[in-house]
Amino acid sequence: MTLLLTAAWAAAAGKDSYTVIISLDGFRWDYTEAYDTPFFDRLALTGVKAIMQPSFPSKTFPNHYTLATGLVPDHHGIIANKFKVLATGEKFSLSDKDISGNPKFYGGDPIWLTAKHQGVRAGVIFWVGSDVPIKGEHPDYWHPYSQSAEITFPDRADEIVKLLSLPKKDRPHLVMAYFEQPDAHGHTYGPVTMPTRRALESLDSLLDNLWTRIQALPVGDNVNLIITGDHGMTMVPANHQLYPKDFLKDEWVDCIRNDLPALVYASKPEYVDSIYNALNGVDHLRVWRKGQVPAYLNYGTNPNMGDLIVLPDLGWVFDKTEWPVCGTHGYDPTYSDMLVAFRAIGPDFKQGYTRPGAFRNVCIYPLLCHLLGLTPSPNDGSLEEVSDMLR
Ligand code: AMP
Ligand code: ZN
Ligand code: ZN
Repeated sequence: MTLLLTAAWAAAAGKDSYTVIISLDGFRWDYTEAYDTPFFDRLALTGVKAIMQPSFPSKTFPNHYTLATGLVPDHHGIIANKFKVLATGEKFSLSDKDISGNPKFYGGDPIWLTAKHQGVRAGVIFWVGSDVPIKGEHPDYWHPYSQSAEITFPDRADEIVKLLSLPKKDRPHLVMAYFEQPDAHGHTYGPVTMPTRRALESLDSLLDNLWTRIQALPVGDNVNLIITGDHGMTMVPANHQLYPKDFLKDEWVDCIRNDLPALVYASKPEYVDSIYNALNGVDHLRVWRKGQVPAYLNYGTNPNMGDLIVLPDLGWVFDKTEWPVCGTHGYDPTYSDMLVAFRAIGPDFKQGYTRPGAFRNVCIYPLLCHLLGLTPSPNDGSLEEVSDMLR
């Protein structure tokens, strides 16, 4: 209660407070323990260090949009990187902008719109959903998504500094930025490998430099910085692949979308049981009919959900194509390999505080609202769950 009053009071008093949140894709919680990351280590000593649990499924699109809205994927609608739209037969895919750019899929109120509607500006660099006209609107500053080759990581750091250097009337109070690493190397080479180590170490030094530049700005003392990510990463041994065709008859299946979990859409209602019976009891797989997913995963009620949800055990995959990668994610978010690192520093965060246990990523939205003095829209998170990190 005290916290809520403090935020309301700060907003009323017009506190000139800024929040920068950076997402490193696939930033597994323990990379900073294994790799040489002096900046992240310093943040732990001078700010807050915590561990965050992603929502299910532990994939990029569902979780970035959860961070933005505070809703679990089942409630905001981006239920997987790929899914079938049952009413129209369309196939949503993160890589197909013609469909993933359609605002009808993006439920809830992303933080940049919560802010805009309460008179607070936001600048967003590549966050999932920011280049989609949700409710007909974009953030105050945004870019169409493109890969890092076009707008490099140093370009993104420059842009954050530029946004915070704008004249007061134009300056955003919320800045959000997305980086594709260490996820890209985590997939290609595996989580505990030299290339992934180098990707993370180079981000550590880029962000160290960025924080130094932010602190040197006139608004520097008023900036809260959060660095976190969407999910972790795990190793997939070469022989840990199960093929749908080894268990399912072609005529039973309309399509299988996504891989972790696999969303299986039956060709006819009577085949739902055939598919379930063929997969139930297979080693290294869990299968549920929609509506029967265990409550702790918060999944299975969305209208676009597959008839069956097939979830491999950690380090296993269930996919039709030969699995060419070393690492992946999408698993049950309670596996420790799926957990995400979290660091925060700035005037509103405690100094030298390591939070016990893991908090749910649905709490980021209410936390951002608190830091910005905004009234949150309805969400699945709780400010109380993370309020111990605040001064
Ligand atoms: P995942 O398969 O869950 O690891 O997804 C990671 C991929 O998501 C990366 O290769 C990114 O290029 C892609 N990605 C991240 N943000 C966006 C975006 N806003 N629009 C399209 N693709 C994105
Ligand atoms: Zn990701
Ligand atoms: Zn990934």
